[in-house]
Amino acid sequence: MIRLIQQNVFLGIIIVALIIAIATYVVNKNKKESEETIVREFYGLGTIIRLRVDGKNGEKAIQEAVDRLNIIENKMSVFKEFSEVSMINKNAGVSGQEVSSDTFFLIKRAVEYSELSEGTFDPTIMPIVSLWRIGSDNPRMPSKREIERTLKLVNYEDIIINEKSHSIGLKHRNQAIDVGGIAKGYAADEVKNVFENHKINSALIDLGGNIYALGTKPDKNLWNVGIQNPFDTRGEHIGVISVENKSIVTSGNYERYFTKGGKIYHHIIDPKTGYPSESEVISSTIISDHSIDGDGLSTGVYIMGLEKSIKLIESLKGIDAIFITKNKEVYATSGIKNSFNITNTEFIYKDNL
Ligand code: ADP
Ligand code: MG
Repeated sequence: MIRLIQQNVFLGIIIVALIIAIATYVVNKNKKESEETIVREFYGLGTIIRLRVDGKNGEKAIQEAVDRLNIIENKMSVFKEFSEVSMINKNAGVSGQEVSSDTFFLIKRAVEYSELSEGTFDPTIMPIVSLWRIGSDNPRMPSKREIERTLKLVNYEDIIINEKSHSIGLKHRNQAIDVGGIAKGYAADEVKNVFENHKINSALIDLGGNIYALGTKPDKNLWNVGIQNPFDTRGEHIGVISVENKSIVTSGNYERYFTKGGKIYHHIIDPKTGYPSESEVISSTIISDHSIDGDGLSTGVYIMGLEKSIKLIESLKGIDAIFITKNKEVYATSGIKNSFNITNTEFIYKDNL
């Protein structure tokens, strides 16, 4: 009897010791992780932002990045009545608006992408975007007449850039600029700069799918970034690319859209027609060193059509692309082919057009 009690006490002590050991291990592990990896998720630039940073200056770096993002949003959002971009729009056809270097630089680059993409990317698309209200709570289908009339206002060549007065203007009244197609790219580059200033050498910057993979993963392996399945919006991917120090930006028909009469109306508008782009491409991903290039180009090539887009991207040094078409074909440009792995067998990799 006494032996039995002794045995039970002994067993009890062992179990308690084991529990303490496990608990200590878990607490230490979490502590260790929280010392090295910081993840901050919040809403900004009209999307969900997720910053993941490794390094001892992480906390400070993230705080500075958040501040920088707020400044960019306040200058560029068309949803803020007195942002610099809103002021340019209010003064359209009247006078130029003096702006800060952020806005000046961004709009200059936006015009460059308009030229490169033969006007498929056009930051003066705003009046048409406002007609459709895609992505808002009450999207609508504009009439043909409305579109025809409004389309006359869309022309990036009417953006007046004055280097001397550091101002941006628009030629005609009611014209308006929307930098929604490129601002997240600029913002990602700025966050990257903040992180680099803080000597961070491993981070993942995700501005609503506009991604910059800084350095490598903390374990020194490449970052694996999934290319979203455009037919499955639950975060499924068709394959992964393995990269370091690269921006990965995707424009897709699945991000913001509404359906009417069984047809999908998405948020990337063809400036030639005023309607959502109908090219065979339904997802275009740009892989580049600078995210502003990725964002500016992904919207344009989405509209341009496959053949022209592949040619354009192949002609740009250090920039690559992955395209997915309506019939589940996947194309990749020469610089990214070997770092890209399709895992979903529904999709067929095409080596050439
Ligand atoms: P997302 O913001 O979903 O990542 P994009 O970067 O491709 O997608 O930008 C789409 C946004 O750009 C739209 O919400 C709209 O504000 C604007 N836009 C739509 N069509 C064009 C276009 N042809 N040129 C420039 N901007 C566009
Ligand atoms: Mg874009």
